[in-house]
Amino acid sequence: TEDKSLHFIEQIIEENLENGFPQDKLRFRFPPEPNGYLHIGHAKSICLQFGLGLKYNAPVNLRFDDTNPAKEEQEYVDAIKEDLQWLGFQWAEERYASDYFQHLYDWAVKMIKDGKAYIDSQSSEDMAAQKGTPTQPGVDGPYRNRSVEENLSLFEGMKNGDYPEGSHVLRAKIDMTSTNMLMRDPLIYRVLHRHHHRTGDNWKIYPMYDFAHGESDYIEQVSHSICTLEFVMHRELYNWFLDQIYDDNKVRPHQYEFARLNLNYTVMSKRKLLQLVQDKIVNGWDDPRMPTISGLRRRGYTPNAIRKFCETIGVAKRENIIDYSLLEFCLRDDLNKVAPRVMAVLDPVKVVITNYPEGKEELLDAENNQEDESAGFRKVPFSREIYIEREDFLEVAPPKYFRLSLGNEVRLKNGYIIKGESVTKDADGNITEIQVSYDEDSRSGSGSEASQRKVAGTLHWVSIAHAIEAEVRLYDRLFIDEAPDSHKEKNFLDFMNESSLTVSTAFLEPSLATAQVGDQFQFQRLGYFAVDKDSTPEKIVINKTVGLKDAWEE
Ligand code: ATP
Ligand code: MG
Ligand code: MG
Repeated sequence: TEDKSLHFIEQIIEENLENGFPQDKLRFRFPPEPNGYLHIGHAKSICLQFGLGLKYNAPVNLRFDDTNPAKEEQEYVDAIKEDLQWLGFQWAEERYASDYFQHLYDWAVKMIKDGKAYIDSQSSEDMAAQKGTPTQPGVDGPYRNRSVEENLSLFEGMKNGDYPEGSHVLRAKIDMTSTNMLMRDPLIYRVLHRHHHRTGDNWKIYPMYDFAHGESDYIEQVSHSICTLEFVMHRELYNWFLDQIYDDNKVRPHQYEFARLNLNYTVMSKRKLLQLVQDKIVNGWDDPRMPTISGLRRRGYTPNAIRKFCETIGVAKRENIIDYSLLEFCLRDDLNKVAPRVMAVLDPVKVVITNYPEGKEELLDAENNQEDESAGFRKVPFSREIYIEREDFLEVAPPKYFRLSLGNEVRLKNGYIIKGESVTKDADGNITEIQVSYDEDSRSGSGSEASQRKVAGTLHWVSIAHAIEAEVRLYDRLFIDEAPDSHKEKNFLDFMNESSLTVSTAFLEPSLATAQVGDQFQFQRLGYFAVDKDSTPEKIVINKTVGLKDAWEE
C-alpha cells in the first residue's frame, strides 16, 4: 500500500488509519519553546504539522513548551503567534505546558508512590560521575533507595521553596546500566527559584523537558508527536514516562522524528541567533539578514515563498544541508507573479537629452506587471534630464555591449531611443554627465515605425526633477562560511561577513511616494525590493529582498 507521493509520516498515518485508528482522533501540535523568535527551520516543522492538520482535517494545537523560566518571555510568545499567523496557519487551541504544572506535579507524586521516582540530594558533579559513559554502565547513587515517605516529604519541601537551587532533584528510577544514557535515572524536576512569565512565583520547581513534553502531548491527546531527529534517543524515555500514567481508554501519543532543516551560510539555533541580537551584530530578531521568520518578512519574503520552499525540500529521515539559493528561487518565483514593476536608479549618473525641449515634460505609459494583466498601467514622468545607472554606460562599447555608449543607441524603458553623444568629466576623470540625443518618433507604444525599431538594449531610468530620494539597504549573506557553526576550533562569530549591509541613496520614480511599509516591488533590471518599517513619509527606506536571476528580458 506504499504510496510514493506521500512522505514517510503520511505513510505511517495512512497505515494507522488502515489498521483501524479513527481519523477523528488524529491530532497534532506545534510545540515551540518561547525562548526566541521562530526561524526558517521552524517553518519546516510548522508546514509539516499544519499540513497534516489540513490533509486529515485534524486539529493542530499551538503548544508553548514553557518549562524553563530562565529563558522564556512573553515577547517571544507574541512573536511566535504573529509569525504563525503570517505564514497563514491557524491553530486549533493555544496551550501552554505551564498550564499543566499542577497535573505534572500530581503525576510525579504518583510516580514516587509507585516507587518509580526518587529524590537525589547529591551535587550535579557526583551524579554525572555515576552516570557512566556510552560504553560503560553507570552506578546507583546513595539516595536511590530512599523511602517513599522521605521522597514525598522532600518533594513537597522542594515545591514549597524550602530548599535552594541545586540541593535536590527528582529523578526517574529506571536503570543506571541502560545502553541508552538518557534512561539512566533522568531528572524529572529541579528546584528553580525563578519568576515564570505566566505562573509568576507560584512554582519553585520546574519539570524537565522530557517529562513535560510527552505528558503534555498525552493531556492534549496528540496522536502523532512529531519532532526532529535529535530526539530519536529520547523516544524510549518519552514512552517510559507515558507508561507510568497511561490509561487504556485514551489515545496514546507516539513520537516520530524527521530531519531538521539546515541551510548553508547561516545559523539556526535560537541560542546563536539570540547572541547575534544581544551582541548587536544585527539590529534585532527581525533584522532582514536574519533567518528568522520576522527577518525574512521584513526583508520581503512572502508566506507563499516560504511554504513553497518547505514543500520543495520535503520531509525525510536523513539530514542534509539545503542551499540558500533554493529559498531565493522560491521567493523570486512568487514575487515575479505579484510584485509591481517600477523604475529606480541605485547608482545614478546624470543624462541630458540635448534635443529634448527644455522645460517640457510628459507622462509615459508603463505596464505594472507583464505577468499579471489585471495589474494595469501607470504614468511615469519623463523630462530632459534623467538618471541612469552608472554601470549602464561606457564611453567605448566592447563587443556585445548592450548598454549605452558613445555613438550607440539604447531604448529607455517605456520611452524613447537615445544615442550617446558626449560626456563631461570632473578633474579626476569621473563622468559627471552624459549628453545624448533622442529620436522623437520612437516613443514606446506610440505605434510609429520608429517605436518598433529594435535596438540592442533597454535601460531603466528616472526623471531627475520628479525622482524621490530613498535610502536603500542592500544585503549580502551574514556569514562568509557555508557552515559557520561546524568548526571545532572556531566560533560561529568568527565567520561574520563584515559587509553584509550596504546603505545607499537611490532615486525612485514618483509613483513610490505613496508606498506603504511592507509594499513590494520589482525595480526593473535590479531585483525585488520591500519598503522597510523604518520608512517615514519624509524618508522612504527600502530593503533589497533578492536580485533577479536573469539579466533584463523585454
Ligand atoms: P533551536 O535549536 O533553534 O533552539 P528548538 O528545537 O530548540 O530550536 P523549539 O522551539 O523547541 O526550538 O522548536 C519547536 C519545534 O520546531 C520543534 O518540534 C523542533 O523540532 C522544530 N524545529 C526546530 N528547529 C528546526 C529545524 N531546523 N528544522 C525543522 N524543525 C525544527
Ligand atoms: Mg526545543
Ligand atoms: Mg534549542
